[in-house]
Amino acid sequence: MRLSQSLIPTIKEVPSEAQIASHRLMLRAGLVRQTAAGIYAWLPAGLRVLNNIADIVREEQDAAGAQEVLMPTIQPATLWQESGRYEDYGKEMLRIKDRHERDLLFGPTNEEMITDLYRQSVKSYKELPQAAYQIQWKFRDEVRPRFGVMRGREFLMKDAYSFALDYAGAVIIYRRMMLAYMRTFQRLGVKAIPMVADTGPIGGDLSHEFIILAPTGESQVFYDAAFEDVDYGAGNFDIDKSEDLERFFGIMTGNYAATDEKHDLDAWGKVAEDRRREGRGIEVGHIFYFGTKYSAAMNFSVTGPDGQKLFPEMGSYGIGVSRMVGALIEASHDEAGIIWPDSVAPFKVGILNLKQGDAVTDAMAEDVYGKLRKVALYDDRSERAGVKFADADLMGHPWQIIIGPRGAANGMVELKRRATGEREELTVEAALAKIGLIAN
Ligand code: ATP
Ligand code: MG
Repeated sequence: MRLSQSLIPTIKEVPSEAQIASHRLMLRAGLVRQTAAGIYAWLPAGLRVLNNIADIVREEQDAAGAQEVLMPTIQPATLWQESGRYEDYGKEMLRIKDRHERDLLFGPTNEEMITDLYRQSVKSYKELPQAAYQIQWKFRDEVRPRFGVMRGREFLMKDAYSFALDYAGAVIIYRRMMLAYMRTFQRLGVKAIPMVADTGPIGGDLSHEFIILAPTGESQVFYDAAFEDVDYGAGNFDIDKSEDLERFFGIMTGNYAATDEKHDLDAWGKVAEDRRREGRGIEVGHIFYFGTKYSAAMNFSVTGPDGQKLFPEMGSYGIGVSRMVGALIEASHDEAGIIWPDSVAPFKVGILNLKQGDAVTDAMAEDVYGKLRKVALYDDRSERAGVKFADADLMGHPWQIIIGPRGAANGMVELKRRATGEREELTVEAALAKIGLIAN
């Protein structure tokens, strides 16, 4: 994209309403704009990040055997009356009446709706187990929306739901989802620690929250270095092999991890000193097994092998896709701005034309842009070099190709790596080869 013709409104001043780095940087880098309390419009650069994250989440959900669906954001109250949650959910639920005075709501989550969809069509044990997911907007009327997209009222969530015939089947899907989550976070370039979470009235230990490490995170976390040593990739674990899932789950649950609220000093003391890690973290995902809570309440049963009716054992699995944008920035930024991981950057490369209007730099910049059209943001504004340097650092492109009149006259550009600040003078071809991008 050409920055001169783009809705990427960078701002120099620090917005006074933003209390945390990611919120400030998302506004300053022109990724989002607030339209009402806790409700944001995603501008082109922000949307590219959101889509890149969603694509990685989607690939890993698919690889885990879940099928993608898209349910509506507006739901009928009747479904929630069946499960009993219409009253229980309280003020976080945005309730709406249509012109016929029918009660509707903007979905805060989708257990009821997915159970209804399965109930309509799945009748036999032969059709299970199954898992389905969507990446869809949710609305929760949070009392205190804050920290930008980290706690919004409208937010994008990946929510998956699983149906199995028995507890053993539910556990396999649960473990598979957990591995899919660790892979997702690994690909997003962040360290994530799964923590045992409260399961409420259902009990058991099948609920985990996923905390990603960021120095400015809300909670203090204590964990064993084991989580950092594991490669979650397909080379190490085959997601379709139950023995691999068992080995994976053993590592996830056999090593110490806790937030400050649940920190157990005795157990912590037993972790070898050189393996103790401490940091701050942000919750980005949550997975649950909840048995037949919804299938029984909503009377979704299938015929079992012996002809008896049975209620499927369910689980649900969330990742805050829009919260992840803020969390990634919390995990990766400096004074100058965002430092995007390569896998999610809105633009892999920023092209800086330091002397817009100069025939030689213009020609070279246009040529480079022509080769990198899909992955580059070309700063072709008639701004001072200093402004372009500052904005490129603020926007956080992993690479910058800096084109000035002196270098251009000799066929040279400067290549800067945002994460390290390293710069070197190269030919265009050498710069492209170093970035590893195929011209298109
Ligand atoms: P929290 O304790 O932060 O309110 P939750 O327990 O209500 O989260 P879940 O219902 O498990 O969250 O939702 C799954 C994921 O959706 C969370 O892990 C989080 O990443 C994201 N999420 C939840 N509420 C919000 C929100 N208000 N804004 C942005 N993301 C959210
Ligand atoms: Mg909540």
